Amino acid sequence: MTTTTREIHLASRPTGWPTDDNFRMVEAALADPGPGEVLVRNTFLSVDPYMRGRMNDVKSYVPPFQLDAALDGGAVGEVVASADDSLQVGETVLHQAGWREHALLPAKQVRRVDASRVPASAYLGVLGMPGLTAFVGLARIADLREGDDVLVSGAAGAVGSAAGQMARLMGAAKVVGTAGSPEKVAWLTDELGFDAAVNYKDGPVGKQLKQHAPFDVYFDNVGGDHLEAAMFHLRDHGRVAVCGAVAHYNDEQPSPGPRNMMMIVSKRLTLRGFIVSDHGDLAAEFYERAGAWVVDGKLTYRETVVDGLDQTVPAFLDLLRGGNTGKMLVRL
Ligand code: NDP
Repeated sequence: MTTTTREIHLASRPTGWPTDDNFRMVEAALADPGPGEVLVRNTFLSVDPYMRGRMNDVKSYVPPFQLDAALDGGAVGEVVASADDSLQVGETVLHQAGWREHALLPAKQVRRVDASRVPASAYLGVLGMPGLTAFVGLARIADLREGDDVLVSGAAGAVGSAAGQMARLMGAAKVVGTAGSPEKVAWLTDELGFDAAVNYKDGPVGKQLKQHAPFDVYFDNVGGDHLEAAMFHLRDHGRVAVCGAVAHYNDEQPSPGPRNMMMIVSKRLTLRGFIVSDHGDLAAEFYERAGAWVVDGKLTYRETVVDGLDQTVPAFLDLLRGGNTGKMLVRL
């Protein structure tokens, strides 16, 4: 018996900001699982900023999406047919075949998740790749130490909201965030325990951060003016976890770097980039610690959820414009 399903294809490569025309909804027929395969009905799809980079035909740490083929990305769902003894119908699983209603894939590419203590969607956010990114960035890349003063940009997003709270849980003395709306700033300070937060749209971010500086650690999700401002406000020997540069993912021309690069020398700063998938050795520790923090209510999270596969592209575009608070998800 075949299953008719729908998936989203990349129709053309965006130049600058993506538009609806770059994507196409396609109907597809899926066969029953062959030996070693499972069929999953996806219930939540993740849209993430890194996907914008995969839409360009350039060599990077992850291969580009192919034209006229389904995009992929994190998803959770329910096993609806299984031809592998390790997975049973009805189990909740995490995998990488998102942007589609059903996924037919080898059982070894699927991870069973425990949806009894936390909702399955959390495995795409606070207990998934974004949460692990926050943990790796703090624990390993920035070498977070007891008593550090920490600045997080993109602080109301999936990675940033986890990073700010984890920094505190891991011993930071002060945690300050940047975000793009008064509502996000209020969420950071009133609910997530940030000591302060600034809305970078209210004025130059460097000027606004002055009253909260200096910092020992900067967790950079944004790049550009935020990185320049942070370098200005770091203490000597400050450490930067360079996680992303979302302010520039839709730039048509490469943008100039910070104007104060000499501060790397004068302040003896360390700026270290990282890709979360290189740090799978920290995953077990992350799941144990973050899982306990979430269950105990010490690590909280928000999701911005839209409904329906046809809302995936709008959700992705909205994410790049700051329409999300916490993790941006599509519910099917
Ligand atoms: P978010 O949930 O943070 O969503 C993106 C956010 O970026 C928006 O909500 C928006 O918030 C902010 N933003 C957009 N444009 C600008 C701008 N011009 N200036 C400042 N902020 C802007 O996404 P994630 O948490 O999933 O990802 C955060 C960062 O982490 C990204 O750079 C991503 O690429 C990176 N990342 C890196 C990984 C790695 O392995 N290195 C792994 C996962 C993510 P606002 O309203 O505040 O503007």
